[in-house]
Amino acid sequence: MNSRVVALSGGVGGAKLVQGLSQLLDGAALTAIVNTGDDFEHLGLRISPDIDSVVYALAGLDDPERGWGRCGESWTFMAALKALGGPTWFALGDGDLALHVERTRRMAEGATLGEVTQQLARALGVRARVVPMSDDPVRTRVITDEGELGFQDYFVNRRCAPRIRSLRFEGADRARAHPEALEALSAPDLRLVIVCPSNPFVSIEPILAVPGMRAALESARAPVIAVTPIIGGRAVKGPAAKMLAELGLAVSARAVARHYSGLIDAFVLDRIDEQEPAADAPAGMRLVYADTLMRDRDDRRRLAAEVLSLAEPLATEAVSAHTHGARRPDPRR
Ligand code: GDP
Repeated sequence: MNSRVVALSGGVGGAKLVQGLSQLLDGAALTAIVNTGDDFEHLGLRISPDIDSVVYALAGLDDPERGWGRCGESWTFMAALKALGGPTWFALGDGDLALHVERTRRMAEGATLGEVTQQLARALGVRARVVPMSDDPVRTRVITDEGELGFQDYFVNRRCAPRIRSLRFEGADRARAHPEALEALSAPDLRLVIVCPSNPFVSIEPILAVPGMRAALESARAPVIAVTPIIGGRAVKGPAAKMLAELGLAVSARAVARHYSGLIDAFVLDRIDEQEPAADAPAGMRLVYADTLMRDRDDRRRLAAEVLSLAEPLATEAVSAHTHGARRPDPRR
């Protein structure tokens, strides 16, 4: 049976499912392609929040309470910075800071983001591959009713308060998809591609904006499944629901499913959203229901197992649906 699994991920929500997958899959079988649109330079440091969330989760170092950064952090640096009158709007724990300093140092010596990510993940005992969507800089810019803002300015400094009008991904048109990401998506033994329960607009969209990435998903020889980030009309965390509303879409899991229309074969909704018949699914897409809230490691593993179990039936279905206008006539062609 095909063995490789690729997950497209942002930070918090994505990292939880990637960690669940890592409980079930061999390290070499799992590749996470991670959004870098949230990356920024702060205090002279290179910060990659989504990559770090995924790496910390895989290393068992994430803080499930806070949802970002490392567990068991100390905050000596922040307190000292505050006493000096330095900027404190972006919180950096001491252990987290060490990672940013080390990343910045290695990149100043010429290493790529992908190389540094690989080295740091290995040093923390991570066996899965964590790959940035690109080694080239892509920066998510949020166009709001208060003007254009950098992503972290909008997200952390302004706490997502300004109303969103649109988004743009600066540098995406010139960015080269990470070769390991493209290699994983075109692997002959690819079993499944999972679009994690991440924010569709600021975590998944930047990945798809990198030239070649969307096409690689479309031609992948395996089913593509997305997991809802919206449960019962609300985001578990973060601005996904607010963004859906401000972008003029319904605030529902089905609206996210429609957003991914043409890209995915199946969409996993939460059981609490099971009220409407599955026949309501966008064309060429199957709706599946599961318990999608990941409160702890067991939830992550259980959801990962449910998603993985869909790979084979979907691949079989796609072959038999050849003449019925499925998203991709034969994913195993
Ligand atoms: P960010 O880059 O740190 O914002 O992280 P992501 O985009 O990966 O994750 C944010 C999204 O994950 C939000 O839209 C949340 O609603 C969703 N999310 C977080 N935790 C869970 C969970 O346990 N289950 C599901 N289904 N979605 C979740």
